[in-house]
Amino acid sequence: EQARIGVTGLAVMGRNLARNFARHGHAVALHNRTAARTRELVEQFGDEGTFIPTETAEDFVAALERPRKLVVMVKAGAPTDAVIEEFAPLLEPGDMIIDGGNAHFLDTRRREADLRRRGLLFVGTGVSGGEEGALNGPSIMPGGSAEAYASLGPLLEDIAATVDGTPCCTHVGADGAGHFVKMVHNGIEYADMQLIAESYDLLRHAVGLEPAEIAEVFRTWNTGRLESYLIEITAEILDHADPETGQPFVDVVLDRAEQKGTGRWTVQSALDLGVPVAGIAEAVFARSVSGHTGLRAAAAGLPGPRPNSADASAPGLADAIEKALYASKIVAYAQGFHQIEAGAAEYGWEVDAGAMATIWRGGCIIRARFLDRIRAAYAADPHLPTLLTDEHFAQALGDAQDAWRSVVAAAARAGIPAPGFSSALAYYDALRAGRLPAALTQAQRDFFGAHTYRRTDRDGSYHTLWGGDRSEVTA
Ligand code: NDP
Repeated sequence: EQARIGVTGLAVMGRNLARNFARHGHAVALHNRTAARTRELVEQFGDEGTFIPTETAEDFVAALERPRKLVVMVKAGAPTDAVIEEFAPLLEPGDMIIDGGNAHFLDTRRREADLRRRGLLFVGTGVSGGEEGALNGPSIMPGGSAEAYASLGPLLEDIAATVDGTPCCTHVGADGAGHFVKMVHNGIEYADMQLIAESYDLLRHAVGLEPAEIAEVFRTWNTGRLESYLIEITAEILDHADPETGQPFVDVVLDRAEQKGTGRWTVQSALDLGVPVAGIAEAVFARSVSGHTGLRAAAAGLPGPRPNSADASAPGLADAIEKALYASKIVAYAQGFHQIEAGAAEYGWEVDAGAMATIWRGGCIIRARFLDRIRAAYAADPHLPTLLTDEHFAQALGDAQDAWRSVVAAAARAGIPAPGFSSALAYYDALRAGRLPAALTQAQRDFFGAHTYRRTDRDGSYHTLWGGDRSEVTA
């Protein structure tokens, strides 16, 4: 028997994806640089389906049905290139390499172009949901050609999570589109997590609740419009006591948030594309601030608000935080979807925004009831200029006005950092402002650098002779 698909790289992700394929009745060829991992998989899980273990690259390739489909699940970066170079020479035109690692989308574009020249198909795919998702149904974001998706898609859709009978997998767009969208997904995840962290901080230090009480608040929120995996696990974490000390678990964890880099990539790409993903950037920076322990220690004695000015714990603050969280979450997703649209325009992809919301409803970390709303927003208007103007979201933002502003003000008064909430509100206010002080910024640029400006009352570019008689000349 030959395998329908092969997986090379059998660490947690590859092993679980291979088992997922096998459990769905697809014979899977197995390969790993260190053969012990391959043997271990078959020993432990061999009865879950048909596995064809192999030890050499040649045997792995020979075990695959044609056209061959090889899933590469190794460390992102140079190891992925090394593995591609190991297998590509053994393949024939029409065969396909699928990279399910967390590759940078520009690497995926490069690899796809290179393999296309060699007659091979290359699919860079985002896989979200961690090891649990890989085994039981991830959210899958494949890029590459439509031709590649036509033969690979059904296999991926088979092992993906499903919501309301719809698989959380769809063809995202050409070459690096899948990894791009996965990257933005992770950026949104950073923002989501930061907003939840700020909500917790305010509930604890402005409202004055204990972690177990806050868990209850989150559980309540999880029955409403904020229902999501991240809110659910937040409640579980806040309810957990450290077995060793009996303290709330959240109090024994060092307050330093690490990152593997996809949030940073999102912001770097957004800077290149000129897309203001301020909420995602604040979330990346908030983790970075937390890690600067020397700086924090040096600044720890700096003055904060006078005690009597911290009148934050106004009645209703907890409810206001729910509204501020929802409003800020809308902003974070609006920024992420703006980036997807800008990336698609820059790199020539046709990405269906509503379909992205659809495949994020299950399997991945940001799965949430909210995504159905985004799907509905794009279904109502596929060319929505921003999620903020969708009828449902505009109304939610309207309803949140007093609450959102009072939460940001309460945080400022109490000296509690809330960069996610405040930057989301600033973005919202900037977009809806009739006039921005950018007029002054541009005038300054003309003053010191003769960068010219345009006028509100007629076309053309102008420069004022600031160092001379201050008359205006046409640029
Ligand atoms: P790791 O990222 O830890 O990678 C380990 C695997 O890569 C092993 O199979 C290892 O082989 C192989 N490998 C490393 N270097 C080489 C090389 N030079 N040549 C051949 N094989 C090599 O594994 P994970 O399962 O955690 O992740 C796999 C991919 O999936 C990564 O790109 C990761 O970013 C991505 N990913 C991970 C998620 C997660 O939650 N962990 C979620 C989504 C994506 P050996 O056994 O011989 O050392």
